[in-house]
Amino acid sequence: MEQLPTLLACTQEQLAAILAEAGETKSYRVTQLAEWIWKKGATNFEQMSNLPPTLRRTLTERYTLRPLAVTERRVSVGGTRKLLCRLQDGELVETVIIPAALGENGSQSQRLTLCISSQVGCSFGCKFCASGLHGLKRSLSVGEIIGQIAVAQDEADDRVDNLVFMGMGEPLDNLENLLPALRLIIDPHALGISPRHITISTSGNVPGLKKLAQCGLPVRLAVSLHGATDEVRSRIMPVNRKWPLSELLSALEEWRAGSKHMITLEYILIAGVNDMLPQADLLADIARRLRAKINLIPCNPVPNLDWQRPAESVCRAFCRSLLAHHVPVTMRYEKGADIDAACGQLRRRTIERQ
Ligand code: SF4
Repeated sequence: MEQLPTLLACTQEQLAAILAEAGETKSYRVTQLAEWIWKKGATNFEQMSNLPPTLRRTLTERYTLRPLAVTERRVSVGGTRKLLCRLQDGELVETVIIPAALGENGSQSQRLTLCISSQVGCSFGCKFCASGLHGLKRSLSVGEIIGQIAVAQDEADDRVDNLVFMGMGEPLDNLENLLPALRLIIDPHALGISPRHITISTSGNVPGLKKLAQCGLPVRLAVSLHGATDEVRSRIMPVNRKWPLSELLSALEEWRAGSKHMITLEYILIAGVNDMLPQADLLADIARRLRAKINLIPCNPVPNLDWQRPAESVCRAFCRSLLAHHVPVTMRYEKGADIDAACGQLRRRTIERQ
């Protein structure tokens, strides 16, 4: 794929500058171009029928509207659709479309949800996750982050209106590109997705969390907790050795003070590792301290990773124990196990085939 910059990363002011550079100074052209990009979902400049042919040709030579292309699609029996996308430099990222009927956390929802990647690979190495197995290749650019939304909308022939940054990579390790991407995503003149329908998921990157809090973007936060003591959490999340629970929880308290949304604590249940009832008691203490909700996810086995799903009775007992502490809990079973929908699995299989 020829490497061209994408207009998906551009603000209105930047579009105006690009048009001026292409010799077009009429101010209404900016509105026309922005409408084609954001409202009509144009995939190439030739579709922009109200722009002069010479301008369309110039833009085609200099820019792209799709900085990534779908190379593989998997559709699960439940309708979850995983896209494997090739970037202009040949790297691969995964994006998952979750149909409206399922919605976030498996609840009933009319929203079209997209689980989006922020990096190629990941350096955080969480033990249940295939994305970190090959390490971090690079962070995604603003255009590549937004490009995932554009190709998902092409595929679904519908607008994405709920966004979860839970795909490959640690979003807070790529704040440089995440923040401008978020601004375009929520901008009513660009994608216009409400910030309360955007969830950033972090493994517990404390400095990134503090910087995100300072930006004051009213997005939701999910935290991969997976252990209620340093000993248990460090076995699952190497990041905990760098930023232990005490530091993470005080950063989350600060976040909570500045946000009206509840934090979601993600907790993957792993047999014999973190599914003991004393962990449930401590987890409930943490949730109460943060006024957070808990999302339990019985683990899906990942090939070559040594974790197993607990018995159903153990998952239920863990959930009951949390409910006895009067903290909000949901139990979510990962959708799309039949299509390698868990983070990083499809990319990993594809790399191994190459
Ligand atoms: S869970 Fe997220 S932060 Fe952890 S290794 Fe996977 S992609 Fe990275």
